[in-house]
Amino acid sequence: MKVPIVVVGAGACGLVAALAAREAGVLVLERDASPSGSTALSSGFVPAAGTRFQRAAGVEDSPERMASDIRNKNKSQSSEKLIEALCRESGPTIEWLADEHGVPFELVQGFLYPGHSVLRMHCAPEKTGAALMAALLRAAGGIDLMCSATVTEVTPKSILVERPDGTSEKIEYGSLILACSGFGGNKAMVKQHLPEIANALYFGHTGNQGDAIRWGSALGAAVRHMGAYQGHGSVATPHGILITWALMTEGGIQVNARGERFSNEHLGYSEQCLPVLEQPGGIAWCIYDERLHKLGMTFPDYREANAAGAIKSSFALDGLENTLRLVEAYSAGKAKDPFGRDFTTKPKLQPPYYAVKVTGALFHTQGGLAIDAEARVLDWNGRPLPNLYAGGGAACGVSGDHVWGYLSGNGLLAAVTLGRIAGASAIRHLLR
Ligand SMILES: Cc1cc2nc3c(=O)[nH]c(=O)nc-3n(C[C@H](O)[C@H](O)[C@H](O)COP(=O)(O)OP(=O)(O)OC[C@H]3O[C@@H](n4cnc5c(N)ncnc54)[C@H](O)[C@@H]3O)c2cc1C
Repeated sequence: MKVPIVVVGAGACGLVAALAAREAGVLVLERDASPSGSTALSSGFVPAAGTRFQRAAGVEDSPERMASDIRNKNKSQSSEKLIEALCRESGPTIEWLADEHGVPFELVQGFLYPGHSVLRMHCAPEKTGAALMAALLRAAGGIDLMCSATVTEVTPKSILVERPDGTSEKIEYGSLILACSGFGGNKAMVKQHLPEIANALYFGHTGNQGDAIRWGSALGAAVRHMGAYQGHGSVATPHGILITWALMTEGGIQVNARGERFSNEHLGYSEQCLPVLEQPGGIAWCIYDERLHKLGMTFPDYREANAAGAIKSSFALDGLENTLRLVEAYSAGKAKDPFGRDFTTKPKLQPPYYAVKVTGALFHTQGGLAIDAEARVLDWNGRPLPNLYAGGGAACGVSGDHVWGYLSGNGLLAAVTLGRIAGASAIRHLLR
């Protein structure tokens, strides 16, 4: 079999790439019986600048402003050209998906993620990655999608696909798009590249085994920023449910089992995984009030955690009373937080208080195949391989080389926007 464009992986990146490349003839190969990926596990919040959804809400944004937020977070560690391309294309990509492919995006309102200077997260009304995946799969109806199809080998012109009955098939391609994500599900690779988080819970898709990185490397591709990842400092334990960080950005605090704060909760949820894991028992408590509980209840995950009994309105923690007194003084501007957080911009916490026990987790990896602004995979000399493209978790994203460089949304930005760029580039290659 010969196909003009083969896409490996049917998460957000693969499906968006397939939509962009559809006219050339595309085959998408997905290991799972039903596509889900980390995309379906995610909150489904996709950042984009200058969209009509932002304008309708009176939000002024621009690709330059978005680029500056990304750069501030990763301390300018990532490829400038890639940042510029992603920010420039992010708005048109969201509008293209909404207007031409019926993805029901709306602007996420009510709180800002750390490091976002304006509201720019777009999501399906359900506020879940599962809803985003469902919409993308609906849009991709009519595109050849082969499920239970694990790609096991890649050469410069063909791939080998294995089916559950043990048979395998060689498929030749004109262009290949690697959209099979990162290596978060591969314990050995996580231990090698991310030892600091190797013992933590992995909260992403287990099928993300680093295949793209392995195949690309064998074909001579360079890899970059293998130390980059998105962590999270707020997964309800033992329930294993994501607790929205909006509780922290809007005024909540995290304390350890002694009731003491241990960090500036406003730096970002990604890097917060490490200080949480360093606390006694590897856990922390998110402490907040009724106002924030109501905000939490607008998120499906939080509602699930509430129904599961993870959210406590009656609890006792030694030392918490003293911590709350200190926080009240920070909120009133009477004392300065030793961790550097400004408490004066949000309403002060008021009883009755709520609490949820959380731990730190690894969500997904952000390092991967080196690519240029056209999603072309690069060799170690910075030259593009002739017909190989990568996006989403398979490619090196824009989070620098550390956990703290991850700005909220960098994951789906690289999946959705790079997916579209990769699809368009793959077509251009065929037309040459
Ligand atoms: C809990 C959670 C919440 C998150 N929330 C957000 C958020 O709100 N916003 C944001 O920007 N990011 C978020 N992220 C990150 C985001 O989910 C990922 O960055 C993004 O989904 C990656 O998309 P992808 O298409 O590259 O990979 P995936 O969605 O993981 O898709 C990869 C696909 O490739 C398939 N595959 C793998 N290997 C093979 C193979 N050999 N052959 C065939 N198929 C293969 C897999 O089965 C999978 O379906 C979150 C992550 C998690 C875990």
